Amino acid sequence: MRPTDQEASAEADATRTARRDDLVVRARATTGFMPDDEGMALYEAARRAGREHPGGTFLEVGAWCGKSTTYLGAAAEETGAVLFSLDHHHGSEENQVGWDHHDAHLVDRSTGRIDTLPHWRRAMIEADLEACVVGIVGDSPTVSSRWTIPLSFCFIDGGHGEDPAWADYRGWTPHVIAGGWLAIHDVFPDPADGGRPPFDIWQAALGSGKFVEDGDCGSLRVLRRV
Ligand code: SAH
Ligand code: MG
Repeated sequence: MRPTDQEASAEADATRTARRDDLVVRARATTGFMPDDEGMALYEAARRAGREHPGGTFLEVGAWCGKSTTYLGAAAEETGAVLFSLDHHHGSEENQVGWDHHDAHLVDRSTGRIDTLPHWRRAMIEADLEACVVGIVGDSPTVSSRWTIPLSFCFIDGGHGEDPAWADYRGWTPHVIAGGWLAIHDVFPDPADGGRPPFDIWQAALGSGKFVEDGDCGSLRVLRRV
């Protein structure tokens, strides 16, 4: 007997939910800097963008080993968007030897430099996200200065120093379409909790009059372009 439309759609829902749950489990297990609840909030924000702008383009700055990429990739796959995931994969200042967020396992012994690209790549292969996630390996301002694709969702989580954060703000936010979303990570209103630049660029986005608040979770801030 052929399934009824209702049965077929219930089955499709179950398949989608199972796939989503699998990706969330993978994202949680991936090395990185994103608490579970913030990751879910990121996924949900991107899914809204994907639903509202079919066939849209997402971009993340700051991929590291693919944790946020997996959350965003789940939203891209589910909604038919494509995610460009940008990183030079050499780590930010705070990831280098002697800093708080250094992980010696991520140093490539032949170059002596951090190289998260193999980890990111393995995460995408194991999650089977290569059809909708495209890695861009390079310096964020170099890429943004040549970029022309309108973005329905942009996630900024790259270098958190003054210069890199402002370069990401200036280089990427103009590409967010009207009705598109901008998410910024590591926004800490209290300086005791973390560095200023992500907070400052979040304030600048709000102050520009081009973005309005559209949700938050922990240090994640979600904005929508008016
Ligand atoms: N979103 C990640 C964490 C990103 S950490 C997660 O979910 O775990 C910040 C990343 O920004 C690092 O991988 C670092 O290599 C990258 N980065 C810093 N400055 C950059 C630049 N100028 N261009 C490209 N990537 C940069
Ligand atoms: Mg972060």
